Amino acid sequence: MRVYVESYGCSQNQGEGAAIARALAEEGHEIVPEPRDAEAGILVSCGVIASTEARMVRRWQALAERLPRVLVTGCLVPLRTDLLDGPGRDRTLFVPIREQARIPALLLPPPGEVPAPSGRSPGGLAMVPLAAHPPVTEEVVIAQGCTSGCSYCYSRLARGPLESVPIPEVVRRVRSAVARGVHEVRLTSLDTAAWGLDRTDGARLPDLLRAVAQVPGEFRIRVGMMSPQTLRSILDDHLEVLASDRCYHFLHLPAQSGSDRVLHSMRRGYTAAEFERQVAEARGRIPDLALSTDVIVGFPGETDDDHRATEALLESVAPEMVNVTRFSARPGTPAARLPRLPPSVAKGRSRALTTLRQRLARARFERWIGRELPARVLEHGAGSSSVARFPNYLPVVLGERQALGRTLTVRVDGARATYLLGRPA
Ligand code: SF4
Repeated sequence: MRVYVESYGCSQNQGEGAAIARALAEEGHEIVPEPRDAEAGILVSCGVIASTEARMVRRWQALAERLPRVLVTGCLVPLRTDLLDGPGRDRTLFVPIREQARIPALLLPPPGEVPAPSGRSPGGLAMVPLAAHPPVTEEVVIAQGCTSGCSYCYSRLARGPLESVPIPEVVRRVRSAVARGVHEVRLTSLDTAAWGLDRTDGARLPDLLRAVAQVPGEFRIRVGMMSPQTLRSILDDHLEVLASDRCYHFLHLPAQSGSDRVLHSMRRGYTAAEFERQVAEARGRIPDLALSTDVIVGFPGETDDDHRATEALLESVAPEMVNVTRFSARPGTPAARLPRLPPSVAKGRSRALTTLRQRLARARFERWIGRELPARVLEHGAGSSSVARFPNYLPVVLGERQALGRTLTVRVDGARATYLLGRPA
């Protein structure tokens, strides 16, 4: 069967979408890049904010109008499937996240129906479009759910309690990715530092990383987002593993706010000072570390002082990357019951944080100008450009097309707010 897969949201959801496409291709289905070529469509949905949710509804409508079979999985299932109502609902199947392994079986033709062409190319290899399976980077999901109780979070409701993928299975997935030519393995979950907390053998994320690091091959590990709350108990051990050459020297640690009052209302389980201490410790141990953080702006009850505290925290830790998201009330979460800020206030604060984020990032990036470092080419960009990653995950744009996966020494000669500019040294 010809299947079109469309994924949204975080790297975990994207990784799950890619895993679904791979499993389907292994079963002989053909993954097609456009819905017009498909006999079935799969929407791997996200509901992180209201505007994303509205987009999911539009995408489902577009697929259900055109295709005889549609499967919806991801975070809208099962909590928000009532939104997907209209023509095509009777041809739509909702698959809970933890049942995604059943999707290839669900797409089998009903008994007695002539099977669609297998989608295998004449050489016997399943045809998988490049965009669906970037050949040199791959998300490997290491856990489902999380242990935290953030008052605004929809993902927690959608994905349930923590269930860590056992070490041998993660290692098998990484081995398989590396054998397929992957050079960047992105270990991902809602909170990677929580990995193992549901286990009885005491194994935690650093143990998993050490096992993955043993996989032979030319690849680096990018450790995904983690909460300061769960990082607390493994900080020392984690930084020791992170400092190795196998890992990107990269920390994705969401602050969410610089105000302890707001952090308490968000039920994040740490203070701004603890976040700051963790970053200082990480930068002290890994001097080239790049920090990515997230901030929610306009949380219910956020005052001007709270907003200034967030600005001060960002100024103090000077992250290389900041994702700013305006608060969006998600149905069923405790924060949705709190009185909201006027939209104009949240908008103004969001604009201010975006300006600050750009200034801080540019200053951090400019420190690299004039340096020569090894970088691996992982993407082809606009025109004839290529994008490579330094050992701390900072992206550097090269003017010339380079082979994907190639490692070369790059001289940095410019900086923008989200990337560096360089050329082969
Ligand atoms: S976990 Fe959050 S960001 Fe990821 S797909 Fe679900 S709602 Fe979207």
